[in-house]
Amino acid sequence: MKALVKKQGGEGLWLQDVPEPEIGINDVLIKIKRTAICGTDLHIYNWDDWAQKTIPVPMTVGHEFVGEIVEVGSNVNDYRAGQIVSGEGHVVCGRCRNCMAGRRHLCAQTSGIGVDRPGAFAEYLSLPMANVWEHREGIDLDIASLFDPLGNAVHTALQYDLLGEDVLITGAGPIGAMAAAVCRHAGARHVVITDINPQRLELAKKLGATYTVNPVQEDLADVRKKLGMSEGFDVGLEMSGNPSAFKDLLANMCHGGKVSILGIPSESLAIDWNTVIFNMLTLKGIYGREMYETWYKMSVMIESGLDISQVITHRLHYTEFQQGFDAMNAGEASKVILNWE
Ligand code: NAD
Ligand code: ZN
Repeated sequence: MKALVKKQGGEGLWLQDVPEPEIGINDVLIKIKRTAICGTDLHIYNWDDWAQKTIPVPMTVGHEFVGEIVEVGSNVNDYRAGQIVSGEGHVVCGRCRNCMAGRRHLCAQTSGIGVDRPGAFAEYLSLPMANVWEHREGIDLDIASLFDPLGNAVHTALQYDLLGEDVLITGAGPIGAMAAAVCRHAGARHVVITDINPQRLELAKKLGATYTVNPVQEDLADVRKKLGMSEGFDVGLEMSGNPSAFKDLLANMCHGGKVSILGIPSESLAIDWNTVIFNMLTLKGIYGREMYETWYKMSVMIESGLDISQVITHRLHYTEFQQGFDAMNAGEASKVILNWE
């Protein structure tokens, strides 16, 4: 079968013929229909320090996908050929304290598809049945391929009550922009989003942000005044990984404000702990998606009208993958979909 492989160190990915994956008794075989390119895939493509330390080569990459089950292992009774599925890319151990307690997203022995084990940028993927998410009938395949990053947005945004609240999102990348849509869908009042890239701010507006801020041009304190918010934001979602964006966010929260942090800073950073302490802020780190409450919320929100379609900026055939990675590297793309049919 064809697969996009990190064949060796250095920049790039290679479209290669590799053996079809074998499935174990607890696995399903999925024929891939669509995949989406994640920031993580870009790190692997560019072979940065993180990728060099993390990715054993050769490795078939990719973890954002939708496909059709074509075969199931002998132990699999709940799934059958023909079902349209995505899957949780974090494969957990199943035996640790958190896994046993049903807190699988907190497993410390997670292995990632397309990072630690063969990924989804391929014609076929073998996945444990415990990681399968079956889609509701009639779902748009491009949207279905985005459930992994949409899950990051949903997991981060739904940490706290949003109905009637004022939300600040720092970073209008694909995940920040989708989070804006989720916050609006969940009934937030103001959804203010920041980015230094005007194209990305425009996109976030299309997805539902009520006010966009370029921090180089406008101060968040002024924005609060303009919107009549005397006490600061109720909920903050850090989705940039940028130190100054994070500090700005903390400085503009209300007393008792609640912050969830998804963005990954490239190095350690200092914050004003006095703000956290005296304003009694709650800070929570977010990783991945909750298994499978986040997935359930995604399916029902899409069913009830959540529209994230505008986040897709490129639709390409998998053989045109180079174009997709170039657009990502140039900062021109938000979500790039690759069609494997
Ligand atoms: P992205 O890199 O596409 O988006 C980040 C955005 O932040 C960019 O648009 C960038 O222009 C913007 N930004 C940079 N400096 C800024 C500043 N000073 N103020 C405001 N915005 C600024 O990433 P993404 O795919 O949307 O993901 C968002 C973040 O979440 C990234 O840091 C990513 O590494 C991280 N992430 C975390 C998890 C997790 O499980 N914790 C999963 C996926 C992604
Ligand atoms: Zn575990």
